[in-house]
Amino acid sequence: MKPYKAIAICIIALAFPSCGGKAGTLAQTPRPEDRAKNIILFIGDGMGSEQIKAAGIYGTGVGGTLSFEAFPHKGYISTSNAEGGVTDSAAAATAMATGTKVSNGVLAVALPGDGMPLETVLEVFKKQGKRTGLVTTTSIAHATPAAFASHEKTRDNHDAIAAAYFNESRPDILFGGGGHIAQADGKKAGYTVVADRDEMMTLETEGETRVLGIFGRGNMPFESDGLGNLPHLSEMTQVALQILENAPYGFFLMVEGGLIDHACHANDIHRAVLETIEFSNAVAKTLDWAKTHPDSLILVTADHETGGLQVVGNNGRGVLPAVSWSNTGHTKDDVPVYGWGKGAERVSGNMENTDIFQIIMRSAPNSIETFPSLCRFDSVWKELVVCR
Ligand SMILES: [Zn+2]
Repeated sequence: MKPYKAIAICIIALAFPSCGGKAGTLAQTPRPEDRAKNIILFIGDGMGSEQIKAAGIYGTGVGGTLSFEAFPHKGYISTSNAEGGVTDSAAAATAMATGTKVSNGVLAVALPGDGMPLETVLEVFKKQGKRTGLVTTTSIAHATPAAFASHEKTRDNHDAIAAAYFNESRPDILFGGGGHIAQADGKKAGYTVVADRDEMMTLETEGETRVLGIFGRGNMPFESDGLGNLPHLSEMTQVALQILENAPYGFFLMVEGGLIDHACHANDIHRAVLETIEFSNAVAKTLDWAKTHPDSLILVTADHETGGLQVVGNNGRGVLPAVSWSNTGHTKDDVPVYGWGKGAERVSGNMENTDIFQIIMRSAPNSIETFPSLCRFDSVWKELVVCR
């Protein structure tokens, strides 16, 4: 097993909250009945407040109407990278996955720093006995999912990322676009492999534990272009939940709306709005599911804003709003965070992107009664678990 030297930094920050971020204000050890068994993290790539507003206006004629905007808890996160600059998706996803800010392009290793791997929430939960999943509309080897399940100095090491998925982190669900991921490698690694919507929707989810869905040869198509025989993000999310809900000790699932960013780089409001609405649909499906699984935490946020979008006029339902763009790259704007379920009250005020990691870990501390073999982790999180 690889050493995770840098996790010690997080441990210190947690034991001594003044060491890091808002750790000291993210609330106390939750009572057992307040703990999240299942954790679902939604990341809208490039989805700032104005993208959300534009999609709500287009969908209903009124802003503030996307599914997650009705969540009971809301805050904002700063998205800057380790140098305090504008982030990319790799650095932002690493901050959320590991609680540590890194340089752009870096996937879950300590750079700046000694380059050691940074343990991710997915890896921590896997050790605890939870099942795990990654769902995205980009290539499954793209930066956002990769930061949760691989450790690379550069996000461009796609083949190494794929190898890490199959040989090391082994998420139980991998759904997304293709490229750098071979069906044969997935089969060899013990995955059931599906390649289109019909194959995915007809899975006998009761009997499946490890499924690889490779949908297309690269990033998936935009909603605006039609998906043909490929699944929508909400469908991938629903099937992932149907498989993961059988996990006896719960699960961690990350769902990315990855093409919002691509649309915004092109300053294409039509594509951006439709991608954001489908992202909202995926959250809505999850909220429906969670009504019968209330021991769950749902977080919805973004890695950064893209395009400097401003909504300047509402043209009514089903008509694109008037907008302006300030650039074709990422911006430094804070982005919203929405929380529902067990531990969601930790979402409030102005936070850092690294606080997403803190919120998740503090809402779902390990239960030593359930996992007596995990004493090492228990000692790490001793303030958070039942066993002393
Ligand atoms: Zn981007």
